[in-house]
Amino acid sequence: MKILVCISHVPDTTSKIQFTADGAALDAQGIQFVINPHDEFGLTKALQMKEAGLATQVTALIVGDASVEPTLRKALAIGADDAVRIDARPESGNQVAQWIAEYVQANPYELVLCGIESIDYNGGTVPGLLAHRMGAAFANACIGLELSGTNATVLREIDGGKEKLTASLPLVVAGKKGLVEESELRIPNMRGIMAARTKPLAVVAPSAVAAQVVSKRFEKPVGRTSVRLIDKDNLGELVRLLHEEAKVI
Ligand SMILES: Cc1cc2nc3c(=O)[nH]c(=O)nc-3n(C[C@H](O)[C@H](O)[C@H](O)COP(=O)(O)OP(=O)(O)OC[C@H]3O[C@@H](n4cnc5c(N)ncnc54)[C@H](O)[C@@H]3O)c2cc1C
Repeated sequence: MKILVCISHVPDTTSKIQFTADGAALDAQGIQFVINPHDEFGLTKALQMKEAGLATQVTALIVGDASVEPTLRKALAIGADDAVRIDARPESGNQVAQWIAEYVQANPYELVLCGIESIDYNGGTVPGLLAHRMGAAFANACIGLELSGTNATVLREIDGGKEKLTASLPLVVAGKKGLVEESELRIPNMRGIMAARTKPLAVVAPSAVAAQVVSKRFEKPVGRTSVRLIDKDNLGELVRLLHEEAKVI
């Protein structure tokens, strides 16, 4: 069985995010990019499945321009067998889902592991759209996954509890922490980094797919203002401020 791990290339969670002067795009200058944290759980789970003899190949895939290759090499250094870059600069989740679906149609995988969301654009759209286009089963918000032959048992986190599902392969999973624990995540070692240099990284040309939704403008949240103390006997002033300035009453 072959496992495809879809990876979103995202700014490091400690990055100070800035936008271009017109607010139309992320200013990537000086930003360190990493594997989307939710996808790290998927990648580790896939490697564990291969080590347990349940899979023969783990492929890491990113839809992105050449700037994403260090992130793919990191996935290879952690243990993926090969990597695929669909050579596009995506603008929306529907494009990403369509291009991955076309890749899987030409190169079938029984299990596709995605993250529940990409921590940059936070769309949460790709895995469901991808499953639909593949005609595959879809399990969202997964915190556990077991395989037995062509069947999968999935544990999902739901409001106030957990849900256990069964599905037949092919299956698309949108996973998160719990698929594996944080302590099981892998850091590339020197041997892995050296091996990654010679592992195959295929670059695939995308088909023409229009973005259905295009980001127009980004804004950072307004910074916190300082605390204003109001005399405990001056309730009238408190009410006025809540009404006229905070506009909450
Ligand atoms: C160079 C570059 C430039 C970009 N510019 C823009 C932009 O201008 N506007 C914009 O909206 N987005 C941009 N993106 C982000 C990209 O379009 C997003 O992947 C897409 O918007 C989906 O975002 P989402 O938040 O819906 O993903 P989600 O649906 O939240 O992602 C869920 C999961 O889907 C998979 N996934 C998501 N994206 C990818 C991907 N690219 N490749 C492989 N798997 C993926 C991952 O497993 C991820 O955990 C850019 C990405 C790159 C690499």
